Amino acid sequence: MTDFSAPAASRRDFLRTLSLGAGVTLLAPNLLALPPERKLGVALLGLGKYSAGQLAPALQQTKLCRLAGIVTGSPEKAAKWKQQYQLPDKNIYDYKTFDRIIDNPDIDIVYVVTPNALHAEYAVRAAQAGKHVICEKPMATTVADARRMIAASQKAGKKLSIGYRLHFEPHNQAMMHLGQTQAYGPLKHLVSDNGFRFNNDTPWRVSKSLGGGGPLMDMGIYSLQGCLYTKGQVPTAITAKFDPNTNPQLFKDVEAGIKWQLQFADGTTADCHTSYAENLDGRLRAEAANGWFELQPAFGYGGLAGSTSKNDGKLNLPNINQQAAQMDDFADCVLHNKPTRVPGEMGLRDVQLLLAIYRAAETGQKVATTDVQQLIDRTQAR
Ligand code: NAD
Repeated sequence: MTDFSAPAASRRDFLRTLSLGAGVTLLAPNLLALPPERKLGVALLGLGKYSAGQLAPALQQTKLCRLAGIVTGSPEKAAKWKQQYQLPDKNIYDYKTFDRIIDNPDIDIVYVVTPNALHAEYAVRAAQAGKHVICEKPMATTVADARRMIAASQKAGKKLSIGYRLHFEPHNQAMMHLGQTQAYGPLKHLVSDNGFRFNNDTPWRVSKSLGGGGPLMDMGIYSLQGCLYTKGQVPTAITAKFDPNTNPQLFKDVEAGIKWQLQFADGTTADCHTSYAENLDGRLRAEAANGWFELQPAFGYGGLAGSTSKNDGKLNLPNINQQAAQMDDFADCVLHNKPTRVPGEMGLRDVQLLLAIYRAAETGQKVATTDVQQLIDRTQAR
C-alpha cells in the first residue's frame, strides 16, 4: 500500500506528483519503521470512543511511535487496556497521578482526548511535565485557554499539535493543492456540510461548559478547516444563523445546528452548515472559474471519495489510516525537530474563528475577523 505517513519530503513530493495529472501513481517515499525500542512513546489521555476506536488501533500501525501508556480515571479501563495492549503498570496513570509522568522516559508524547473544555488543563500539565502534546480538536473552548496551551509548550521547549488528521489524508491534501494552486482557475465559491443526528451517547457534547458549544465545535470545525485549507486563506468576515431548535430538551445549552458564510478578501465565499439534528453528508465542494471539484464524503475516517467537473481523476485517491499518518508525522517532527503542519497556532486561529461564527449568529451582524489577522501569516496556505 502506498504510505503517506512518510517523514519530511512526503507532502511536497505528494503534491508535486498530484500536479502531474490524472492516473499518475502517487509517489510517497516509504517510511522506514523504527525498531520498537526506538519508537516514540505515546500516552493516550482520556480513553473514550476516539481513543479506543481509532487512536489505539492506529498506534498498532504507526512506524515512528507506539502506544506506551494511558491516563484514565477508570480503574476498569486501566485494567482492560493494560491487558489488551501489554502496558506496564508504571506507564498507567490516573488524572491525579498524571503529573508524575515527568519522571517517565517511556513517554515522549501525551495525546489529549478528553471533552473539549478539559483539553487545556491536560495539555498544560503535559507540557509542564516536559512532554510533547497532541491535542484533539477543537483545541480549546476559549482563546485564553488556547493561548495558555501554546505558552506552556513554548516554555517547556516542547511541540504542540492539533489532531487535524485530514491534513495527512490524500483527498483533503488534494483539495488543498487544487484550491491553492487554482488548478481550475480562481475559486469562486465553497460549500461544506457536516453533521449527524446526535443520540446523546456522550452528553458532554451538548454541554456548553464541557463542549464549548454544540455541533459547530464538534463537526462544523471540519467544514471550517476544509474551506480554509482549500482556499489557503483566512476569511475577512463571517455571517451566521442558528438553525431552528427542533429539540429544546436535548439542545438546552448548545445550538441544534448553524449555517455560516465565510467571506474572503477577493470575494470568494464559503457556505457551511453543521447540525446535531440531521445527518449531513460530510461534503467539501469548490467551484472555480473553470470547473468544480469536491469530496463526498469528505471528512470521515475512511471511504472518502472525490470527483471533478473535468472527470480527470485528480481526486481518485487511496484511503489510508489517517490517524497513523497524523501521529507518525508528529513523531517525525519531534524526532527531527521540525515544525508540525498543524500547530497550536492553527488551533488557536480556529478557536477564534469558531467563536466569531457564534458571535455572528448571536448578534445577527457581520463579524470582521481582524483579531485573527495576526495569525494569518503563520497559518496561511496550510
Ligand atoms: P468520549 O466521551 O467517548 O471520550 C472522552 C473521554 O474523556 C472519556 O474516556 C471520559 O471518561 C474522559 N473524561 C475525562 N474527564 C471527563 C469529564 N470531566 N467528563 C466527561 N468525560 C471525561 O468522547 P470522544 O468522542 O472520544 O471525544 C474526545 C475528544 O476527541 C473530543 O475533543 C473530540 O472532539 C475529539 N474527537 C476527535 C475526532 C477526530 O476525528 N479527530 C473524533 C472523535 C472525537
